[in-house]
Amino acid sequence: MHVSDEPSQFSRDDNASTLFLPDEAATLAIGGSLAPCLAPGMIIWLEGDLGAGKTTLVRGLLRALGYENKVKSPTYTLVELYVISQLHLYHFDFYRLNEPEEYLEAGLDEYFQGTAICLVEWPDKAGVYLPAADLRLDLSLEREGRLAKLSALSEKGRQCLTTWNSSAVRTPGAIFSNSQSQR
Ligand code: ADP
Ligand code: MG
Repeated sequence: MHVSDEPSQFSRDDNASTLFLPDEAATLAIGGSLAPCLAPGMIIWLEGDLGAGKTTLVRGLLRALGYENKVKSPTYTLVELYVISQLHLYHFDFYRLNEPEEYLEAGLDEYFQGTAICLVEWPDKAGVYLPAADLRLDLSLEREGRLAKLSALSEKGRQCLTTWNSSAVRTPGAIFSNSQSQR
């Protein structure tokens, strides 16, 4: 596993960061590194094709918060609910929505009205009904691993990335890069 702490390989700013995740452990680690940066009511969109690593990343995040049971993909249930020491997290997967209206029909909009942290796979499938994201994570295949791009889309999202950028927590296995040097 590669670990890089060299400043020249970091691309972290408060609006967007890009990292290379060479293996599954790195995806779990970046999920975990986000755990201390979350704020109540935060909405995080997880973008990327089937198998990109969205659920893996959520698994890393939940484990870092102390959740020890199995983290299931919400592909069939649409949502999995977690309460971890008074923190509510909702993990959605809208892949199986045939049309955005099904989001409303299933009453999924109600989950987004409280202070729970919402992690959403396939947000596009809910169309215009889904509230805007604070943070967006794009995962794509890159060589044997994945490329992860984190973008802040609101003030809350920027605060999250600021905390993440300044945190002493390095993400094991992840290689930060600016897009020029990576492509
Ligand atoms: P998604 O939820 O995006 O459909 P999953 O997280 O369910 O994807 O599955 C991703 C698959 O890719 C898993 O088999 C996982 O082990 C693997 N994987 C995750 N991250 C990486 C990575 N950085 N490099 C290589 N394989 C990865
Ligand atoms: Mg998934």
